[in-house]
Amino acid sequence: MFTSLSDRLTATFKNLRGKGRLSESDVNATVRDIRMALLDADVALPVVKEFTRGVRERALGSEVSQALNPGQQVVKIVNDELVQILGGETRQLRLAKTPPTVIMLAGLQGSGKTTFAGKLAKLLKDQGHYPLLVAADLQRPNAVTQLEVVAERAEVVCFAPERGNIGGHDAVTSSGEGTQSFGDPVWVAKAGVGQAKVRGYDVVIVDTAGRLAVDENLMQQARDIRDEIQPDEVLFVIDAMIGQAAVDTALAFQDGVDFTGVVLSKLDGDARGGAALSVASVTGRPIMYASVGEQTKDIEVFHPDRMASRILDMGDVLTLIEQAEKAFDRRQAAEMHRKFMAEEDFTFTDFLEQMAAIKKMGNLKSLLQMMPGMGQMKDQLNALDEREFDRVEAMVRSMTPFERTHPKQINGSRRARIARGSGVSVSEVNQLLERFQGAQKMMRQMRRGGGMPGMPGMPG
Ligand code: GDP
Repeated sequence: MFTSLSDRLTATFKNLRGKGRLSESDVNATVRDIRMALLDADVALPVVKEFTRGVRERALGSEVSQALNPGQQVVKIVNDELVQILGGETRQLRLAKTPPTVIMLAGLQGSGKTTFAGKLAKLLKDQGHYPLLVAADLQRPNAVTQLEVVAERAEVVCFAPERGNIGGHDAVTSSGEGTQSFGDPVWVAKAGVGQAKVRGYDVVIVDTAGRLAVDENLMQQARDIRDEIQPDEVLFVIDAMIGQAAVDTALAFQDGVDFTGVVLSKLDGDARGGAALSVASVTGRPIMYASVGEQTKDIEVFHPDRMASRILDMGDVLTLIEQAEKAFDRRQAAEMHRKFMAEEDFTFTDFLEQMAAIKKMGNLKSLLQMMPGMGQMKDQLNALDEREFDRVEAMVRSMTPFERTHPKQINGSRRARIARGSGVSVSEVNQLLERFQGAQKMMRQMRRGGGMPGMPGMPG
């Protein structure tokens, strides 16, 4: 699923990793790479333009220059923009206040409508609904039979014309009263919804006919069905493998019948798939489901945020960045900055605050892995004993407030008391103080050199 796009984007971000500061040309190069990756993945040009403009603007802005790690902030921006392109929030199925909820499917022949009908029915059935499938695709000779097979697999009932009594565990009879014949898809759709009302099905899924290409007769038929059954949702099913044609097809269906949501089918294929990604953006209609295989179970509710993380192959990193944003609040960062500029020394009190912030973010190793340059330090990282942090914290907690702000005043007897209080040896206390003073010195040097403070006082 979007493998090549994903590979391209992650390769682009590798160049950014560990950069302390991003120049305008860094940003431009990144945006250019992203643009190429999107175009190669068949994402529609207007969407690419909008996307890269958004990324560039934000990447040059203050959120990146003030970020803990500018490279990762850019990744986060790309992720945010991707979520927007994919429709923003997850859109749930709208259920009718008075059942049945009527869902109409539209799309080209071969797009995966019938298969999807079965998947959706099964999904809803598993959620406790009583879905009824309605075979209003009378264009293809075996479409009705196919829907019956699909219904049987999903263990739901199918309402179909002709034989009147077809499929499922609870066969439904469509009686041919009135003037219209079984051959009329509008009549079948209407009769199906009628049956659902009578028999207490709370969701009706109406499969409609598709053609190999968009044509006016097809649109008219879809409109007629729509007007007759007044669906709560019209879902447009689009084959993710059809490439650039996806956007035009989507626009033609929007114009012809309009739809309330999009289903991306065949996302399991190795297609470039980017065109399908453009559909939400171009039509302004949310992607609601993804079809990811030929089996009934191969359906996913579409979450724009999760899909973006998947494409960027960055799920856990994004979570960490968010945790970092939450843990290091602005006040704390501003206070650190003020101290630094005011040439005040970093104290053990600051250190405790930083430790607390880091702990809020969870696993220390995964956090450190995000930090610049950590890729080359895998061995040291693996050897890192998280318990050492606990020991350091215990030592600092055994200090009095005076000692925490005046580390130089911690003499022999104070050291012995701290060691006893925290259950470590005096030599460990000595080591900590030595390292801490080293870190303070480093900060003073950085200040003179004009650099920014890192994370002084970290053990290890
Ligand atoms: P319809 O003409 O729109 O009803 O399309 P169908 O449901 O008959 O699907 C057309 C073909 O695509 C069939 O061979 C399906 O098995 C296949 N298909 C449908 N959905 C998927 C999917 O998500 N993944 C894959 N790999 N194949 C699919």
